[in-house]
Amino acid sequence: MAPRRSRTPDPATDATAITVADAAPAAARPGPVPLQEKLADRDGFVAMVELVPWRGVLDDPGGKRARTMAEALATDPRVDALSVTDNAGGHPMASPEVLGRELLAAGSEVIVHVACRDRNRNEIASLGWRLASAGFRNVLCLSGDYPVEGYAGLARPVFDIDSVALLTMYSDLAAGRWPGEGAKGGHGATEAPSRPSFYLGAVVNNHKLLEAEVMTQYYKLAMKARAGARFIISQVGYDARKDDELLKWMRHAGIALPVVANAYLLTRGAARAFHSGRIPGCTVTDELLAVVEREGASPDKGKAYFIELAAKQTAIAKGLGYRGIYIGGAMSHEDVTRILDTAASYGPDDWRTFAREIQYAIPREFHFFEKDRATGLSSETVSRSYLRSKKRAARPPHVLRSPVAYTMNRMVHSTVFEPGTPGFELAGRMHERAEGMHLGKVLHVLEQAVKAPLYDCRDCGDCSLPDIAYLCPESQCAKNQRNGPCGGTHLGECEVPGKQCIWVRAYDRLKAWGETDGMLERPPALTDNALRRTSAWSNAFAGRDHIGKRIAAEEAARSEAVGGDDAAAEGRAG
Ligand code: SF4
Repeated sequence: MAPRRSRTPDPATDATAITVADAAPAAARPGPVPLQEKLADRDGFVAMVELVPWRGVLDDPGGKRARTMAEALATDPRVDALSVTDNAGGHPMASPEVLGRELLAAGSEVIVHVACRDRNRNEIASLGWRLASAGFRNVLCLSGDYPVEGYAGLARPVFDIDSVALLTMYSDLAAGRWPGEGAKGGHGATEAPSRPSFYLGAVVNNHKLLEAEVMTQYYKLAMKARAGARFIISQVGYDARKDDELLKWMRHAGIALPVVANAYLLTRGAARAFHSGRIPGCTVTDELLAVVEREGASPDKGKAYFIELAAKQTAIAKGLGYRGIYIGGAMSHEDVTRILDTAASYGPDDWRTFAREIQYAIPREFHFFEKDRATGLSSETVSRSYLRSKKRAARPPHVLRSPVAYTMNRMVHSTVFEPGTPGFELAGRMHERAEGMHLGKVLHVLEQAVKAPLYDCRDCGDCSLPDIAYLCPESQCAKNQRNGPCGGTHLGECEVPGKQCIWVRAYDRLKAWGETDGMLERPPALTDNALRRTSAWSNAFAGRDHIGKRIAAEEAARSEAVGGDDAAAEGRAG
């Protein structure tokens, strides 16, 4: 069965924050044409260039080099936007704001990356207001790569929230909403004083081996779109069929956002690092590495070949219907102009030949659509073997395909912990009575005695086990991802090596019951840290956890809608 369609806005008509200024004609306004406007142009094709900050201050040699290149790119009419990374790869660098401010002053359209790895939600909110005050508008929302180093030892990652929750937060800020009330109170404000005019972006990575990796990336993309993403950038990969599949899957799912393809300018060193799986989310297959090694042995170390490869990727992206190209890698301004000029020199149909040539898929890689034999790309026919596997999974007896422990978890949950069921009401009343008898602490100890050995529970008090097929994100996901996988999986393994990604495991568990389609069709889970070291059972029965709050919000929305209908009916009757 096809994934359920999710209604997502078209950025041309329904953006997070379209200001009056955006609606004005470009000619009447000084400065660059906003990225949002360029990406809304269905006939346009933008060029974005990624800039990686250096380690040190602006006047250091690294800073001077970055500024020189940035200044050249800022004045190049072929380049539409410059995108500044935020401690990419988990390496500490100068903040993207430092270079970003210089670029804004030089008149560039800037995309600033915000990663959740190094800051908690309050710092992320502060950063949002700081960025908006400085004039940044385009924000790429990321969970961030796991830290790989730090001052005098490895840095402790934060991951208080993830990319989906970050999109939700900045969308709320843009709408003037500030849901401040947590379990411990706080100001409880419902309105933020300002409405930053953000244009929010997100990343997707479908260059993955397993069905579980690809499909959860697609489901998370839909969730990001619902959470406020208004443009999408794809991750590093060298497979035109998969690039084609992404656009076709988005159409299939009803997601009408502009997508920008990735063209990373390889070097031999970068290709080896990507191939080893050390760089999260970047795929170079054995076959491509063999080509890179051969070309890299030439006198120019493969430079001409790598430039041409990126230029061909640019042409393919344009031919497939991407709204632009995102060029990354260690490069000079001259490299960027060579890529763009070479791409511009191709004939209108050359991309079709290149698309057959650049198909470095991982052997036995999952594809959502059947191959189109005529073009070598993706057809619009959903993979027959995928559909067959779903049909099999939809048929009982599910228990025979499922681990016993998982089946038991489902039974217990649906009997006692499923809100709205008689078992939940009864267990809630019993729990309340026990707490009234001052047995709350005893129950919490009992809860931990069960959950610590079964789930490696870390007593967060705001349990996501039912969201992730009874796998604990606190203990088993390096980045505490509660709203779908990060883009870092490598052949099904976590980007922090040594175990399978919990979202791959969750997908496989749900697949056995034919329940994968809806696994991320829910509002984002945002935990309340006030609940840490308190009983998750008690919080669930009292509606204090994220699931209880979600249900309360849904009920409030329903009664508001009914109230509105009643008022309208009364108005009509009157
Ligand atoms: S378990 Fe999966 S989602 Fe979590 S950090 Fe590892 S790869 Fe990312």
